[in-house]
This record gives sequence, C-alpha cells and structure tokens, in this order.
Amino acid sequence: MTARAEKFDALVVGGGVAGLSAALSLADQGKTVAVVEKDASIGGAMIRLSKVFPTLDCASCITTPKMAAAAHHENIRLFTFCDLLSLDRQDGKVLAKVHKRPRFVDEAKCIGCRKCEYACPVYLEDPEQGGFTAKKAISIPFGNAIPQVAVLDAQSCALCGKCARVCPTNAVDYLQQPVDFEIEARTVIMATGFSANAPQMKPEYGQGRVENVITALAMERLLAPHGPYMRVLRPGDGKEPGSIAFVQCAGSRDKTLGVPYCSRVCCMAAVKQAMLLSGALPIADITVYYMDIRAFGKNHEQFFQNARAMGIEFVRAKPARIFQGEDLNVVLRYEDQETGAIVEREHELVVLSLGMTPHWDGRGIAGLHRAPDGFLQSPAPKTAPALTTLPGVFAAGAALGPKDIVDTIVEADAAAAEAATWLEGAE
Ligand SMILES: Cc1cc2nc3c(=O)[nH]c(=O)nc-3n(C[C@H](O)[C@H](O)[C@H](O)COP(=O)(O)OP(=O)(O)OC[C@H]3O[C@@H](n4cnc5c(N)ncnc54)[C@H](O)[C@@H]3O)c2cc1C
Ligand code: SF4
Ligand code: SF4
Repeated sequence: MTARAEKFDALVVGGGVAGLSAALSLADQGKTVAVVEKDASIGGAMIRLSKVFPTLDCASCITTPKMAAAAHHENIRLFTFCDLLSLDRQDGKVLAKVHKRPRFVDEAKCIGCRKCEYACPVYLEDPEQGGFTAKKAISIPFGNAIPQVAVLDAQSCALCGKCARVCPTNAVDYLQQPVDFEIEARTVIMATGFSANAPQMKPEYGQGRVENVITALAMERLLAPHGPYMRVLRPGDGKEPGSIAFVQCAGSRDKTLGVPYCSRVCCMAAVKQAMLLSGALPIADITVYYMDIRAFGKNHEQFFQNARAMGIEFVRAKPARIFQGEDLNVVLRYEDQETGAIVEREHELVVLSLGMTPHWDGRGIAGLHRAPDGFLQSPAPKTAPALTTLPGVFAAGAALGPKDIVDTIVEADAAAAEAATWLEGAE
C-alpha cells in the first residue's frame, strides 16, 4: 500500500542524539522536520548507555528530555519503525521512499498501558537489556521509549489472543500490514549513526561462544540504573564478578576484519565503565588490556589518570586468544610487552570493546559517497564536515565516523546550520 507524499522542509534520517539535536535546531528556527527512525523508539545508542564520559552524567537524564522535546515539538513529526528505502532528487526537492514495518499495534490507539505485556504468556530474550533478561512477545520497547507504543513480535507470538482481549483501546491488530509512503523535503540530514561489529567475527576470541564474555554495550546495560539486574552480575551463573577485564581494540585497528581504523570512543568508554565498576564492586580487580589509550578529547587525559589513581590496572597487551577456563571463568592469553613471556591470566568476566562500523550501507541513495572506511564522505572535511557529496544533503554524528557525544552534538548543530542556510537559499 503506498500513501501520498507528506511535505516537510527537512528530512532527518536517524533519531539518535545527532538526528534529534539537528531536528530540534531546525524546528526551533520554524522549519518543519520529519525524523525517520528504523527502531521502535528514538534515542539511538545514547539512550541505552549508563553514564557518559568524561563527566559521568546519567545518559538517559540527558537523552530523555531531548527525545520528549522532539516528540512534543509542533514542527517535528516522528516516523518510527520505518526504513528509508531510497532518496531521489527532483527539481530542487528530495523524495524519500519509506517503508513502515507493522508493529501489529495501532499507534493512534495505543496508550502505553502495558496490559497486553502483562497478559502475554510468551517470554523472549530482551535485546534492549543486553539479552540478560526476558521480555514478552508484545511489549513497550523499554521504560523511557518514545513513542510509548507496544510492538508485537510476530515470529514468536503464539496467537493466543490474550493481548487483544485485555487491550482497553482495541489497539492490537494481528492483520496490520506494512505501509510504503513518501516524504517530500527540500533538505536532508543523514544521522544514521553506527553499529557495533559482531562478537562472532573473531575465531580467536571464541566467536561469541565463551561464557562470561560480553560486549561493551551489554556492560552499559549492566551498569545502567534501570539495567537488567539492578546490580552487576555475570550472565553465565549470576555471580558477582571479583575480577573483570576489558579487551580494547577487539574489533578495531584490525585489517583482517575490514576495520583498520580506531573507533575513537572505546578507550574512554572502557575507562568510564572501569570507574563505574570500581564504585559498584569496590573489591573487584579491574584490568584494561590495551594497545595504547586514546584520550584526545577535552578532560579525557585527566579522566584516564583518575582511573589509574583509583587502582584500575592497565596492561599493554592485545590478547591473542580468549577461551573458557574453569568455573565459567575466562582465560586471556597474551604476550607480556616487557618480558616477552606468553602469559595466561584468568578473569571472572571479560568485556570486548568492539569496533564501530557505519549503520547505513550505501543502499538507496545514488551519488551519496562513502569514504573507504564505509562512513559518509564529506567533500570538505576540514572546512565543512557536515557536507556530503549531494547538494542539499548534510550529515552529522557517527554516520560520518566514530565519535563521542560532544563531537556528535557539535556536528549536528553544524548540519542544521548548513540545512537552514540551504533552505533560505532555496526560498
Ligand atoms: C559501548 C559504548 C559506550 C559509549 N559511551 C560513551 C560515553 O560515555 N560518552 C560519549 O560521549 N560517547 C559514548 N559513546 C558514543 C556514543 O554512543 C555516540 O557518540 C552517539 O551515540 C552517536 O550518536 P548518533 O546519533 O550519531 O548515532 P546513533 O546513536 O547510532 O543513532 C543513529 C540512529 O539512526 C537510526 N538509523 C540508522 N540507519 C537508519 C535508516 N536507514 N533509517 C532510519 N533510521 C536509521 C538508528 O536506529 C539510530 O537510532 C559510546 C559508544 C559505545 C559503543
Ligand atoms: S497473541 Fe501473541 S503477543 Fe498476544 S498475548 Fe498471545 S502470544 Fe502474546
Ligand atoms: S496495545 Fe493496548 S494493552 Fe498494549 S500498551 Fe497499547 S493500549 Fe495498552
């Protein structure tokens, strides 16, 4: 089913902190903005973080008001659970084709009461909580999701009808169909962000099969105030870990993985998580295995020195192998850089700092060039980093390359300024 094109001044693709910041900036200048987000909620990676370096502010305390401001702004319209299929430029305008996946819940009717969720008998792994806890086959994606609209997982639903029976607004719709529609805009901001590469990619690190080896994003959930256990426990057996290791560059600076570049934020993210763990588990030993610590941002070096002063151990080594030890512990094998000796050391929980790769794979937009690293390419990275190779199409945040939140917001404001100037010119 294809509906008629809706018209906006600007289209923002991606509802993470970059997309929301850019959308709010344009909307405050009186421009109408459509935000297309593929997830069921806006917020991107930031809403899933615990605290943020280098200030250790609560991530959701900063992100939730931005999400709410975008949702309630009279000039912004959110399109969630939507994939951008293509962008075509015609007569100075941009026509975006968008595919809306079915939630099997009517967005206009759902009031977010969760009665369906309580009634549903089917339990699934909850990816929003790092896979550590369960969710129901129909559920609101997470506590501060926006919009607060349930999503039904059709693959797992037992079609028992319980959710539809308890729903007070008749919002559950088992027959809901996908919808393709068009958005017409005069300028576009690509804020499609990053994905973490898969822990399965490295055979020498157990390909994601060694128990009690988790990703840094999963550790963010363990440390978050609304995390899965409300405390830090290791997933293999629910034990409070007494020794935790971070393995840096576990998916970056590695040509064999096609990720030769540095992912820029993982060093500071590991230092942050190590500091938070020192508070949560005061008697635990915490070790960071690193090639070199990249602390280039404002106050980052001091942040790193604070972590050393707290007693966190930093070992200059890249583990060659990670494998299962006794009692569900994890063994790291590495070369001691000072003595040249091959060392095996056991930890109770290991965190892999995976690499950041581009979320947008280049499909659907002719003429929008990507750099050799796969991230969007600015033709003038030093003077106008928010430009892309398509006139009137701008970019911001991790869509242009790995970066932290401060740099993402600065870039989002730059992209919004470029887009506003483009609109004035167009007008
Ligand atoms: C483990 C970890 C810890 C971190 N900790 C910190 C920290 O403490 N401090 C800090 O400053 N930074 C931290 N970062 C970095 C931070 O997460 C990023 O700077 C920030 O999320 C970038 O925001 P973004 O909006 O550019 O991208 P994202 O957060 O990735 O958002 C992009 C959005 O676009 C959507 N999208 C993608 N493709 C499409 C499409 N085709 N159509 C529609 N929507 C699409 C995605 O679903 C997503 O919602 C951390 C990163 C990691 C991995
Ligand atoms: S119909 Fe499906 S989603 Fe609804 S309660 Fe039954 S199993 Fe859960
Ligand atoms: S689908 Fe119905 S029962 Fe479920 S949250 Fe929405 S309104 Fe409540």
